[in-house]
Amino acid sequence: MSKTYIIANWKMNLMPKEAILQAKNIAKEYKSLKGKKDLELVICPSFTEIAAIAKILQPTGVFLGSQDVFWEEKGSYTSSISANTLKEYGCKYVIIGHSERRKLLNESNESINLKIKAALKAGLIPILCIGETFTERQAGQKESVLFDQVLNGLKDIWLKKGDSLLIAYEPVWVIGSGQAVDPDEAEITQAAIKRSLLEFMPAGVVADNIFVLYGGSVNGMNVKSFLSKPSIDGVLVGGASIDIEKFKPIINYK
Ligand code: PEP
Repeated sequence: MSKTYIIANWKMNLMPKEAILQAKNIAKEYKSLKGKKDLELVICPSFTEIAAIAKILQPTGVFLGSQDVFWEEKGSYTSSISANTLKEYGCKYVIIGHSERRKLLNESNESINLKIKAALKAGLIPILCIGETFTERQAGQKESVLFDQVLNGLKDIWLKKGDSLLIAYEPVWVIGSGQAVDPDEAEITQAAIKRSLLEFMPAGVVADNIFVLYGGSVNGMNVKSFLSKPSIDGVLVGGASIDIEKFKPIINYK
């Protein structure tokens, strides 16, 4: 059965007590959901709340992710967190290359590539974020930017049997704007991303191990129009995932 992914990216929006409460609220909502066998629900809090939220989620079937990782395993890397540490704390997923990190912290395709390799080595599932800016879109560079991010982000990465990788297509200009892209455009783009993967990955791996999500102003009103598209395997949700009343209709998208 193919899964539908719903990833909650809380960014730096919740204070510790708020994050704990939101995790409990989401776990409660998930528990009451019917027909959730094919839903993979993931919460990505700040590093500081990972340990506490791991305990809350552990018996629930809701999974934990982090919002970043460092590529080295151990050593003198002040402030960094390794993939093995995240794994030991109970993370299953890790967001890598979010546009906010690319823009504000100059995260490059090369460092993103190292992080994906480190995540896979530790047994984490990377969520590679890609997306074009409005300027790039206006200049007709959308496809080339996305292809470049995919090709360089995944350079020399060979998925083994059992490995998974998620790619979140997030047009930078709609993130946090309240205005998502047209689901038809997202579907065409997601299909193009899957086709671009076929240029350097075996078709079986693309079909079985890689899943493409949409992200950017997803809310309770539009979620179904994205999740009903054949090439969209899930959604990455920012703003609407930090408020339980806004997140409930997303989890209940069916
Ligand atoms: C995001 O930043 O990954 C995101 C999808 O944010 P929002 O849902 O708020 O647009």
